Amino acid sequence: MGNNIADRRDVAVLTVRGRGFRVERIAWKNSDGLSFDVHDVATGVCLTAESYDWQPREGDVVELLDRLKSGLEDGTLDPLDHDRAELATVLGIELLHEGDEDGGDDEGGADGREVNWQCPGCFAVFYVGEEDLAVDHVQIHCDKVDGAGRALS
Ligand SMILES: [Zn+2]
Repeated sequence: MGNNIADRRDVAVLTVRGRGFRVERIAWKNSDGLSFDVHDVATGVCLTAESYDWQPREGDVVELLDRLKSGLEDGTLDPLDHDRAELATVLGIELLHEGDEDGGDDEGGADGREVNWQCPGCFAVFYVGEEDLAVDHVQIHCDKVDGAGRALS
């Protein structure tokens, strides 16, 4: 696919919610159309699974971030398009990684406990010893996963 690119260059850096986002313009060899992708400057993560066909501005990036955030939270993002951990970093969402140094989260007694399983649908975290809770979560409480704990899309 790279062969069809006639030119790619950065055309803008937008600051949205305190982060820098690089707008890259791509011109194609066989088309007059232009494509625009948005990348997070700090991490280099590309946020546009589907390119814009106009040059996005701050309001477009706000809308994009909101769409990605809700997709991440309700499990509807296509994992082929986005790496959830990378996206969470960009969006400032905590996915509760092991070794997370931000101890002030709302999990209270989570410090030092070993994560056993995280729901891929709603990202609820279950610790070692909470297997029964996790089973109840999958089978009863969570409507984001099927009975085997796989995210519904
Ligand atoms: Zn869940």
